Amino acid sequence: MVSGLHRPTKLVIDQQAIKANIQQEIQRLAPTTVLWAVVKANGYGHGMIEVATTARHAGATGFCVAILDEALALRQAGFTEPILVLGITSPAYAKLAATAHISLTVGSQEWLVDALPSLQAGQLAASLAVHFAVDSGMGRIGFRDTATLQAADTFLQQHAEFNLEGLFTHFATADEADTTYFEQQAAKFNQMHAALVSEPRYVHVSNSATSLWHAACNGNMVRFGVALYGLNPSGTALEPPYPLQPALSFESELVFVKQIQAGAAVSYGATYHAQQAEWVGTVPVGYADGWQRRLQGFYVLINGQACEIIGRVCMDQLMVRLPEKLAVGTKVTLVGENGGQTLSLQNVADYANTIHYEIACNLTERVPRVYLPEK
Ligand SMILES: *Cc1c(COP(=O)(O)O)cnc(C)c1O
Repeated sequence: MVSGLHRPTKLVIDQQAIKANIQQEIQRLAPTTVLWAVVKANGYGHGMIEVATTARHAGATGFCVAILDEALALRQAGFTEPILVLGITSPAYAKLAATAHISLTVGSQEWLVDALPSLQAGQLAASLAVHFAVDSGMGRIGFRDTATLQAADTFLQQHAEFNLEGLFTHFATADEADTTYFEQQAAKFNQMHAALVSEPRYVHVSNSATSLWHAACNGNMVRFGVALYGLNPSGTALEPPYPLQPALSFESELVFVKQIQAGAAVSYGATYHAQQAEWVGTVPVGYADGWQRRLQGFYVLINGQACEIIGRVCMDQLMVRLPEKLAVGTKVTLVGENGGQTLSLQNVADYANTIHYEIACNLTERVPRVYLPEK
């Protein structure tokens, strides 16, 4: 995708904030527990390579991604740390993963069987590192009972093409105040863990929410994701043990300013009509940048004041009602701090009826990322 380098719209990513969030978390971990940074989906929209670089400086000793291509991109960029692909990879790519020393998630014995032809073709430089996923209640991927887990473990031990590097699970409700379902999942995982004959190097159960609020469950590795970006995994339900520092700001400028008369309409569908003579500013941000149409009626910050998004959000532009005539070039903040006021990704998500994860991931590559370096 073409990046808009000649348009005054950008994401500003504070790498020091990312570093501080990770350092705070590492301080809370048991000395035998390591932190792997989850940098999938272009680092939750923040930029995978830059986030991974900062995470490594902050003490992360490995990375988690969702798909094999993300892991390969990290290797391409020169990262030599362990990398785990959290989703299911086609067994046809087992050898590609093994050759690049990328660890894959496995949730069935069939997968191991299907991966053998790939691993047995030609010379194999290294065995494939596998993390068995346990479905303790997420209902997404993984072994659901001890018998199938044990059978797969036995099969794996009989085939030198594989080595069991990890055992893990994923919690569905670690970010909620009610811990009933969490505890059921934890008990199920412990029961599955006990069924393994060999102890893998990494036993891990913690996403950000689990590590923040259920640290007693942490195995010897945590998969730290959304919180490293300074976002509270629970939204506003639970208070984090230390202040998280949001890393992302979204900024633009007014590119056109005009006064319209009472009754005049703005944008597609003419859904907005001015009540009186109003000053209107146009901002070069639209749904093609990830600013969804449903954000009509929400606001941006200009000179510390909330300015309503009026009329429909277009593909590439949106209009805001200004308190007065303002100059073209005036700064517009869609996320972040402006004139002493703050507009958070959580505020945006609340208005759009979703979670901040989704707003951040939706920000497209058309918006350039500018990095404020770590200290
Ligand atoms: C995405 C993901 C994580 C990270 O979750 P956060 O809530 O962002 O910390 C951890 N584990 C798995 C399996 C995931 O898919």
